Amino acid sequence: MSKMHLQCIRCKKIYELKELYLCDECGGILEVQHNYLGKKDRVIHELLRLPSFNIWKYKNLLPVEDPGHMVTLFEGGTPLIKGNHLSKKTGFGKLYFKDESRNPSGAFKDRPMAVGVSKAKEFGREIVVTASSGNAAASLATYAAKAGLKSYIFIPESTPPGKVSQAFVNGGIIIKVKGSYSNAYAVAKMAAREFHWMNITTTFLNPYAVEGDKTIAYELYHQLDRKVPDWILVPTGAGPLVFGIYKGFTELNFLGLTDKKPRMAAVQAEGCAPIVQAFESGSRKVDAWGTPGTIASAIADPLKGYEQDGELVLEIVHDSRGTAVAVSDDEILGAVFDLAKNEGIYSEPGAAVSYAGFKKLSENNVIKEKQSVVCVITGHGLKDPGSAAENLNIPVIGPDLEELKSHIKL
Ligand SMILES: *Cc1c(COP(=O)(O)O)cnc(C)c1O
Ligand SMILES: [Zn+2]
Repeated sequence: MSKMHLQCIRCKKIYELKELYLCDECGGILEVQHNYLGKKDRVIHELLRLPSFNIWKYKNLLPVEDPGHMVTLFEGGTPLIKGNHLSKKTGFGKLYFKDESRNPSGAFKDRPMAVGVSKAKEFGREIVVTASSGNAAASLATYAAKAGLKSYIFIPESTPPGKVSQAFVNGGIIIKVKGSYSNAYAVAKMAAREFHWMNITTTFLNPYAVEGDKTIAYELYHQLDRKVPDWILVPTGAGPLVFGIYKGFTELNFLGLTDKKPRMAAVQAEGCAPIVQAFESGSRKVDAWGTPGTIASAIADPLKGYEQDGELVLEIVHDSRGTAVAVSDDEILGAVFDLAKNEGIYSEPGAAVSYAGFKKLSENNVIKEKQSVVCVITGHGLKDPGSAAENLNIPVIGPDLEELKSHIKL
């Protein structure tokens, strides 16, 4: 007897696993029935195995000293997805997407925030604060809720509404600050000092949060069968994500597990690219950007008042023999659609810039076809659905086949 079949719940008629919706005989509901005994050992093994794949798998490499202080929603352990259609289209056989949209709040920020909030617990702090372009806000509110802490959140006025709502519903106390992200950064810093709150702003301001980003490197090492990719492309705001991933690979190298490090590509939006500007001018000094203008709001960070963050990223780019590149809003939108329509990966604009950067760098022959490439997809498309798809022009019909036919091209 085969391992599975369909059976009608009402008349008990049995079918093989074919395309059938309701029972042919009586219209009853169909259920998949298993011959459990035929595969008992394998099934039991599967049911008993406890896979734990989240950032705390690496707790010995994270700065939380007492495991009792760990605050977790099982962040990390995100899939590495091998390109299929985009691989064929670009000719890159080793093109991968690290899908960080699968984190609890829908963005990679859960890695640094889980560590930052755990540290707040460890320090016995009751109020935490962040400046954010949206994703860190949603993430901090989420982890503060889990930890039972109060969270204050400073965001630019133009923050996408989905992220604001996510932070609000999770209990964050939100205050909008006029101007760019850098103004929110300044207010969070002043407020943390004045009121003695723990500042978990995910620039390089909080040394613990950055450690959470390292875990992406460890995961990639496992997922690529202990091989180091030639290139990693990272959407870059202030840059802790670039720094953290590189630090993780540096540790693996130091521990003797790997014999090389990846080349890091920091990708920014043309409408706010202070790091790329410095890279292209050959300078190791970063000047703050003026007013950002890009749909990639998640990475629109002018670095005003903390230019040294960008300079640290530049150091990593150079040390890794990597690069920094800027992409236009049109290229970013193109990347959002390319990823979604070809691979089923739905990302927000700020998250798709890694793929937009890959396209540009491969077309310019900086990244070559034989090389292995990981694009980090940093946040989910639902975080900011409006910016990629306005005026969709979707038909509305009654429950009528003729009306439907007038809309369908066969
Ligand atoms: C915060 C963020 C980034 C940039 O991260 P940094 O570590 O500040 O460079 C990239 N993508 C998304 C979606 C983000 O939320
Ligand atoms: Zn110092």
